[in-house]
Amino acid sequence: MPSQRDVVEGRLVLPEGVVPGRVTIEDGWIAAVERDDGARGPVVVPGFIDVHVHGWGGFAATGDVHELDGMARALLRRGVTSFLPTAPTLPEAELPRFADRVRAWIPAAPGDGAQPLGFNLEGPFLAPERRGAHDPSLLLTPAALAEATLDAVLDGLRVITIAPELDGATELIARLARADVVVSLGHSASTLDQARGGYAAGARSTTHLFNAMSGVDHRAPGLAVAALEQDDAFVELIADGHHVHPALWPIVARAKPAERLLLVSDALPIAGTGDGRTTLGGLAVEVNGGRATLAGTATLAGSVIALDTAVRNVAAAVSLPRAVAAASANPAALLGADDRGRIEVGRRAHLVALGEELEVRRVTRGAGWIEIA
Ligand SMILES: [Zn+2]
Repeated sequence: MPSQRDVVEGRLVLPEGVVPGRVTIEDGWIAAVERDDGARGPVVVPGFIDVHVHGWGGFAATGDVHELDGMARALLRRGVTSFLPTAPTLPEAELPRFADRVRAWIPAAPGDGAQPLGFNLEGPFLAPERRGAHDPSLLLTPAALAEATLDAVLDGLRVITIAPELDGATELIARLARADVVVSLGHSASTLDQARGGYAAGARSTTHLFNAMSGVDHRAPGLAVAALEQDDAFVELIADGHHVHPALWPIVARAKPAERLLLVSDALPIAGTGDGRTTLGGLAVEVNGGRATLAGTATLAGSVIALDTAVRNVAAAVSLPRAVAAASANPAALLGADDRGRIEVGRRAHLVALGEELEVRRVTRGAGWIEIA
């Protein structure tokens, strides 16, 4: 079979900066990256990787094959080429079923959709007082979890949120870290010492920094401070402008090493379909003017953005290379997915061409382009 060759020219967003040049794609992989000061064209970035996303375009990560297909296709059209279907807190008996559905679907996931890299469980090991939009009746401590449930979800589990102060958390964090699962501290009321203990036990990431966690009270620092002081710890940021005030974004970018910031959408299934009413993990949610809250409350319940919006927002507040790395190279590093996430020879040609407003124009997973606008 003749090799498939394609060349894309434009302003390439590399970790070190934006340079004019071209990328040669051969059989789905990046075969050459050349600088050329005469190169013209779109802003070219690595495909985005969303490690925390509950659904998109009206489709839910916790749904059936049709829903997962729809979610993957909707995400790809926003420049997301890889993702982790993310479950909110579910009944314990439902966790293995979610894991089974995603595992069975992964080999059959559509080529014109974002590629699933496993799954993420946000819950059930969340602190009741920082549960956010999770059903309090379903929360568990790690000590109370049935061993069989853990065994049944381990294969394919890439990220899990744990509040480090819960009974049995330290042991579970250490065990999961040994199994190469990313433990993300979050939904937590932990003290600074409890949070430090969670990272010391093996937690490597932080679920939506500032949201649903003990924070930056200068006399009683909590998880947010621990996350910012630990250079090795990744931090997720929901950069939709509702979850964390934009004034904090450059402060976080200065506090953390460039390779430790993760942009996530935390998007709801209703994302991309406008305002309306929906449910998340059995709880009623309403979306008004792009802000999703538990119905009748001010409690935020996830976002309705995709990573393209987060990248635009953080590019304006910090810089384009930092924003792009936080949506591509950094999540790839978090997951150990070193076959993607950068415009670099030897990586998969998962690429997005952005227009002047950084809007998604076309996307490829290495074989042909999907034209968006
Ligand atoms: Zn959350």
